[in-house]
Amino acid sequence: MFEKILIANRGEIALRIQRACREMGIKTVVVHSEADKDAKYVKLADESVCIGPAQSAQSYLSMPAIISAAEVTDAEAIHPGYGFLSENADFAERVEKSGFVFIGPRPESIRMMGDKVSAKQAMIRAGVPCVPGSDGALPDDPKEIIQTARKIGYPVIIKAAGGGGGRGMRVVHTEAALLSAVQMTKTEAGTAFGNPEVYMEKYLENPRHVEIQVLADEHKQAVWLGERDCSMQRRHQKVIEEAPAPGIPRKTIEKIGERCAEACRKIGYRGAGTFEFLYENGEFYFIEMNTRVQVEHPVTEMITGIDIVQEQIRIACGERLRFKQRDIMLSGHAIECRINAEDPFKFTPSPGRITGWHPPGGPGIRVDSHAYAGYYVPPHYDSMVGKVIAYGATRDQAIRRMQIALSEMVVEGILTNIPLHRELMVDARFIEGGTNIHYLEQKLAHKPDLPKDGGIGSKSESKAEA
Ligand code: ADP
Repeated sequence: MFEKILIANRGEIALRIQRACREMGIKTVVVHSEADKDAKYVKLADESVCIGPAQSAQSYLSMPAIISAAEVTDAEAIHPGYGFLSENADFAERVEKSGFVFIGPRPESIRMMGDKVSAKQAMIRAGVPCVPGSDGALPDDPKEIIQTARKIGYPVIIKAAGGGGGRGMRVVHTEAALLSAVQMTKTEAGTAFGNPEVYMEKYLENPRHVEIQVLADEHKQAVWLGERDCSMQRRHQKVIEEAPAPGIPRKTIEKIGERCAEACRKIGYRGAGTFEFLYENGEFYFIEMNTRVQVEHPVTEMITGIDIVQEQIRIACGERLRFKQRDIMLSGHAIECRINAEDPFKFTPSPGRITGWHPPGGPGIRVDSHAYAGYYVPPHYDSMVGKVIAYGATRDQAIRRMQIALSEMVVEGILTNIPLHRELMVDARFIEGGTNIHYLEQKLAHKPDLPKDGGIGSKSESKAEA
């Protein structure tokens, strides 16, 4: 096993990885920007290295700074967390070329899955069902684009091959709007992701977002750890996640889970990964694969008892998976609420000093957060300050426990989205289970006194309800 791991990330996930390492008796090095120098999790690590100023481009995204930090501290492996460089194949390659272990998939797998066009093609070859769409990237010829859309049938969605974080997508309802939408998405994709390639998919009107967590080792063994329902989204960003997905027949889930594990064996995938699907009318449609640990991994950990971060480390060390599919037992239900430093209904970021912090506790409650009273939430990064996870023997119990947890939780000095979560936990449709990906935006659109959201897709989403 490794003696020392460098954590190339910040915030709650940096602390989460640190905890996994400490439990395994591995020393930790945390790299941080100047903005994060006083954070308590930085002080908790065995060693810390300042790698640059607050701007991510010069710190958390600086490959040479991170690799030199690993060199000077003698770390053996680098855990990239999520976001930042976690899905950057060039980084994974440079880490390995510099003589360190990258805790994640092989660079080739990251590259293949990072391009959504090649990811879909690989999935089709591996027998994973995909959203009907164009054969690869869209050509330049306008006639061919129009033909493709006619074949798929409107509405369609134009998506950037290199897109991520819910950006780089445009819904098209009519042929008249098609070519300009393709052009605009291409231009934006070129600027935002450095890759102007776009592709077309059928726009599913009322799907749920259901994903499968997998673990695969270097020895071509792969298992799937159940599913997560992440349909509660705003602007294609997840707000609440839960496991298992309510109301989907186990047989249907098992079939898709097996397909994912099989796909991992076929493509020689290594590490933790997530196959994301849209689920509509009893069918699963692959949309993309994430080749890293996800924000919502704790709900899977709660229902399987498996520590996904520790397994990532063991796999990176070359160990064989310690369990077979038949050993994976799902029990109970878990829900996660992402706590963001933002206005709960206007969604404007609310960085600043946390003056009061009272996290909830009690049976079945887990809080993954690096925040505390006195912590300054820097304005430079993602607004998530933590996650509250509630586990129960049943979904009802998990909801009840989450309601209590949110009622206990106090965060002072900044605004958070806790009031929104409180509302959602008593929302009749959420309690019933199985709401689709548009539900939250539709609910917010009907709230009086709120600015109407102009986010991509939101217009079509209200249409879908009508
Ligand atoms: P990203 O990498 O930016 O997260 P994804 O491809 O995972 O992009 O899609 C994010 C979200 O966008 C999905 O969860 C869903 O809400 C919406 N979406 C993506 N593709 C489609 C589609 N074909 N039909 C309907 N909604 C879609």
